[in-house]
Amino acid sequence: FFAKAWNFVLSAPTIEALPPIGDVEIAFAGRSNVGKSSLINALTGRNGLARTSNTPGRTQELNFFTSGDGISIVDMPGYGYAEAPKKLVESWNKLIRAYLRGRVSLRRVYVLIDSRHGLKANDAVTLDLLDEMAVSYQIVLTKADKLKTGELERVTDETAKKIARRPAAHPVLLATSSSTGLGMDLLRAEIVSLAV
Ligand code: GDP
Repeated sequence: FFAKAWNFVLSAPTIEALPPIGDVEIAFAGRSNVGKSSLINALTGRNGLARTSNTPGRTQELNFFTSGDGISIVDMPGYGYAEAPKKLVESWNKLIRAYLRGRVSLRRVYVLIDSRHGLKANDAVTLDLLDEMAVSYQIVLTKADKLKTGELERVTDETAKKIARRPAAHPVLLATSSSTGLGMDLLRAEIVSLAV
Protein backbone atom coordinates (compact mmCIF):
# COMPACT_ATOMS: atom_id res chain seq x y z
CA PHE A 1 0.00 0.00 0.00
CA PHE A 2 2.64 2.47 1.01
CA ALA A 3 5.01 1.46 -1.76
CA LYS A 4 2.55 2.83 -4.29
CA ALA A 5 1.91 6.43 -5.17
CA TRP A 6 -0.81 8.16 -3.18
CA ASN A 7 -3.16 10.51 -4.94
CA PHE A 8 -5.82 13.03 -4.09
CA VAL A 9 -9.34 11.67 -4.69
CA LEU A 10 -11.74 14.42 -3.74
CA SER A 11 -12.61 17.07 -1.26
CA ALA A 12 -16.06 16.77 0.31
CA PRO A 13 -17.55 20.00 1.66
CA THR A 14 -20.90 18.28 2.34
CA ILE A 15 -22.05 14.79 3.13
CA GLU A 16 -23.52 14.44 -0.36
CA ALA A 17 -20.08 14.85 -1.84
CA LEU A 18 -18.52 11.86 -0.05
CA PRO A 19 -17.10 9.14 -2.28
CA PRO A 20 -19.19 5.95 -2.51
CA ILE A 21 -18.40 3.27 0.06
CA GLY A 22 -15.53 1.17 -1.21
CA ASP A 23 -12.09 1.65 0.26
CA VAL A 24 -11.31 1.06 3.90
CA GLU A 25 -11.01 4.55 5.39
CA ILE A 26 -8.50 5.73 7.97
CA ALA A 27 -9.11 9.27 9.14
CA PHE A 28 -6.81 11.86 10.73
CA ALA A 29 -8.11 14.57 13.03
CA GLY A 30 -6.50 17.21 15.21
CA ARG A 31 -6.26 20.85 16.17
CA SER A 32 -5.07 23.15 13.46
CA ASN A 33 -1.28 23.31 13.41
CA VAL A 34 -0.92 19.96 15.20
CA GLY A 35 1.13 18.68 12.26
CA LYS A 36 -1.61 16.73 10.47
CA SER A 37 -0.65 17.67 6.92
CA SER A 38 3.01 17.01 7.65
CA LEU A 39 2.14 13.59 9.07
CA ILE A 40 0.00 12.59 6.08
CA ASN A 41 2.73 13.75 3.73
CA ALA A 42 5.41 11.84 5.67
CA LEU A 43 3.27 8.69 5.85
CA THR A 44 2.52 8.64 2.15
CA GLY A 45 5.95 9.87 1.15
CA ARG A 46 4.30 12.52 -0.96
CA ASN A 47 5.15 16.06 -0.09
CA GLY A 48 2.31 18.46 -0.67
CA LEU A 49 -0.36 15.74 -0.84
CA ALA A 50 -2.10 17.15 2.20
CA ARG A 51 -1.76 20.89 2.01
CA THR A 52 -1.09 22.86 5.11
CA SER A 53 -4.28 24.75 5.59
CA ASN A 54 -3.81 27.91 7.53
CA THR A 55 -7.00 29.52 6.31
CA PRO A 56 -10.20 28.59 8.18
CA GLY A 57 -12.05 28.60 4.84
CA ARG A 58 -10.31 25.41 3.79
CA THR A 59 -10.93 23.59 7.04
CA GLN A 60 -14.50 22.49 6.52
CA GLU A 61 -13.80 19.78 3.99
CA LEU A 62 -13.00 16.11 4.24
CA ASN A 63 -10.10 15.37 1.90
CA PHE A 64 -9.68 11.85 0.55
CA PHE A 65 -6.43 10.29 -0.65
CA THR A 66 -5.82 6.78 -1.95
CA SER A 67 -3.01 4.54 -3.11
CA GLY A 68 -5.47 2.71 -5.34
CA ASP A 69 -5.14 -0.48 -3.32
CA GLY A 70 -8.25 -0.30 -1.20
CA ILE A 71 -7.18 2.10 1.54
CA SER A 72 -8.15 5.75 1.68
CA ILE A 73 -6.74 8.31 4.05
CA VAL A 74 -9.23 10.93 5.14
CA ASP A 75 -7.90 14.31 6.20
CA MET A 76 -10.47 15.78 8.56
CA PRO A 77 -10.80 19.52 9.07
CA GLY A 78 -8.48 20.93 11.72
CA TYR A 79 -10.32 22.28 14.74
CA GLY A 80 -9.60 24.90 17.36
CA TYR A 81 -9.29 28.04 15.28
CA ALA A 82 -9.84 30.80 17.80
CA GLU A 83 -11.09 33.13 15.09
CA ALA A 84 -13.23 30.65 13.16
CA PRO A 85 -16.71 32.05 12.54
CA LYS A 86 -19.48 30.30 14.45
CA LYS A 87 -21.29 29.35 11.25
CA LEU A 88 -18.17 27.59 10.00
CA VAL A 89 -17.78 25.64 13.22
CA GLU A 90 -21.44 24.62 12.99
CA SER A 91 -21.13 23.36 9.42
CA TRP A 92 -17.91 21.58 10.40
CA ASN A 93 -19.70 19.80 13.25
CA LYS A 94 -22.59 18.87 11.00
CA LEU A 95 -20.30 17.37 8.36
CA ILE A 96 -18.18 15.50 10.90
CA ARG A 97 -21.16 14.05 12.73
CA ALA A 98 -22.76 12.97 9.47
CA TYR A 99 -19.51 11.36 8.34
CA LEU A 100 -18.80 9.56 11.61
CA ARG A 101 -22.33 8.31 11.98
CA GLY A 102 -22.61 5.02 10.16
CA ARG A 103 -19.68 5.29 7.79
CA VAL A 104 -19.16 1.53 7.64
CA SER A 105 -15.85 1.79 5.79
CA LEU A 106 -14.24 3.96 8.49
CA ARG A 107 -11.91 1.69 10.48
CA ARG A 108 -10.16 4.15 12.75
CA VAL A 109 -9.62 7.81 13.45
CA TYR A 110 -6.12 8.83 14.45
CA VAL A 111 -6.44 11.84 16.73
CA LEU A 112 -3.28 13.91 16.62
CA ILE A 113 -2.09 15.66 19.76
CA ASP A 114 0.90 17.99 19.84
CA SER A 115 3.30 16.31 22.26
CA ARG A 116 4.39 19.71 23.60
CA HIS A 117 0.84 20.65 24.57
CA GLY A 118 -0.86 17.38 25.53
CA LEU A 119 -4.61 16.85 25.45
CA LYS A 120 -6.58 20.10 25.47
CA ALA A 121 -10.26 20.88 26.06
CA ASN A 122 -11.14 20.96 22.38
CA ASP A 123 -9.38 17.64 21.83
CA ALA A 124 -11.57 16.22 24.59
CA VAL A 125 -14.65 17.46 22.71
CA THR A 126 -13.50 15.48 19.67
CA LEU A 127 -12.88 12.38 21.78
CA ASP A 128 -16.35 12.78 23.34
CA LEU A 129 -17.84 12.79 19.87
CA LEU A 130 -15.91 9.68 18.81
CA ASP A 131 -16.89 7.86 22.00
CA GLU A 132 -20.52 8.87 21.47
CA MET A 133 -20.44 7.62 17.87
CA ALA A 134 -18.53 4.49 18.89
CA VAL A 135 -15.83 5.15 16.31
CA SER A 136 -12.56 3.47 17.21
CA TYR A 137 -9.71 5.95 17.60
CA GLN A 138 -6.09 6.12 18.64
CA ILE A 139 -4.00 9.02 19.90
CA VAL A 140 -0.92 10.00 17.92
CA LEU A 141 1.52 12.38 19.58
CA THR A 142 3.09 14.64 16.98
CA LYS A 143 6.37 16.61 16.86
CA ALA A 144 8.03 14.21 19.32
CA ASP A 145 11.41 15.49 18.09
CA LYS A 146 10.74 18.70 19.98
CA LEU A 147 10.78 16.94 23.34
CA LYS A 148 13.46 15.26 25.42
CA THR A 149 12.90 11.54 26.06
CA GLY A 150 11.80 12.10 29.66
CA GLU A 151 9.31 14.78 28.65
CA LEU A 152 7.89 12.56 25.92
CA GLU A 153 7.41 9.75 28.43
CA ARG A 154 5.68 12.11 30.84
CA VAL A 155 3.22 13.46 28.27
CA THR A 156 2.59 9.93 26.97
CA ASP A 157 1.76 8.67 30.49
CA GLU A 158 -0.36 11.72 31.28
CA THR A 159 -2.35 11.40 28.08
CA ALA A 160 -2.75 7.64 28.50
CA LYS A 161 -4.26 8.24 31.93
CA LYS A 162 -6.67 10.83 30.54
CA ILE A 163 -8.03 8.43 27.91
CA ALA A 164 -7.97 5.25 30.02
CA ARG A 165 -11.72 5.25 30.67
CA ARG A 166 -12.79 6.30 27.23
CA PRO A 167 -14.71 3.46 25.59
CA ALA A 168 -13.63 3.87 21.97
CA ALA A 169 -9.99 4.78 22.64
CA HIS A 170 -7.12 2.47 21.77
CA PRO A 171 -5.07 2.26 24.97
CA VAL A 172 -1.69 2.53 23.23
CA LEU A 173 -0.40 5.95 22.15
CA LEU A 174 1.91 6.41 19.20
CA ALA A 175 4.77 8.90 19.36
CA THR A 176 5.64 10.33 15.96
CA SER A 177 7.75 12.93 14.25
CA SER A 178 7.31 13.92 10.66
CA SER A 179 10.73 15.55 10.83
CA THR A 180 12.71 12.49 11.93
CA GLY A 181 10.31 9.80 10.71
CA LEU A 182 9.82 8.44 14.23
CA GLY A 183 6.78 6.16 14.42
CA MET A 184 6.02 6.24 10.69
CA ASP A 185 6.79 2.57 9.96
CA LEU A 186 4.68 1.51 12.91
CA LEU A 187 1.79 3.73 11.84
CA ARG A 188 1.96 2.43 8.27
CA ALA A 189 2.00 -1.18 9.48
CA GLU A 190 -1.02 -0.52 11.70
CA ILE A 191 -2.96 1.11 8.89
CA VAL A 192 -2.26 -1.85 6.62
CA SER A 193 -3.31 -4.29 9.34
CA LEU A 194 -6.59 -2.42 9.75
CA ALA A 195 -7.29 -2.75 6.05
CA VAL A 196 -6.54 -6.41 5.35
P1 GDP B 1 -1.67 21.10 10.29
O1 GDP B 1 -2.28 22.45 10.39
O2 GDP B 1 -2.14 20.20 11.40
O3 GDP B 1 -1.83 20.44 8.96
O4 GDP B 1 -0.11 21.26 10.62
P2 GDP B 1 1.14 21.32 9.62
O5 GDP B 1 1.46 19.97 9.10
O6 GDP B 1 0.91 22.41 8.65
O7 GDP B 1 2.29 21.71 10.66
C1 GDP B 1 2.22 22.87 11.44
C2 GDP B 1 3.63 23.34 11.76
O8 GDP B 1 4.31 22.37 12.55
C3 GDP B 1 4.50 23.54 10.53
O9 GDP B 1 5.31 24.66 10.75
C4 GDP B 1 5.33 22.28 10.46
O10 GDP B 1 6.58 22.47 9.84
C5 GDP B 1 5.52 21.93 11.91
N1 GDP B 1 5.65 20.48 12.12
C6 GDP B 1 4.79 19.53 11.67
N2 GDP B 1 5.21 18.30 12.03
C7 GDP B 1 6.37 18.46 12.71
C8 GDP B 1 7.30 17.55 13.35
O11 GDP B 1 7.15 16.32 13.38
N3 GDP B 1 8.38 18.11 13.98
C9 GDP B 1 8.59 19.45 14.00
N4 GDP B 1 9.66 19.90 14.64
N5 GDP B 1 7.74 20.33 13.40
C10 GDP B 1 6.65 19.85 12.77
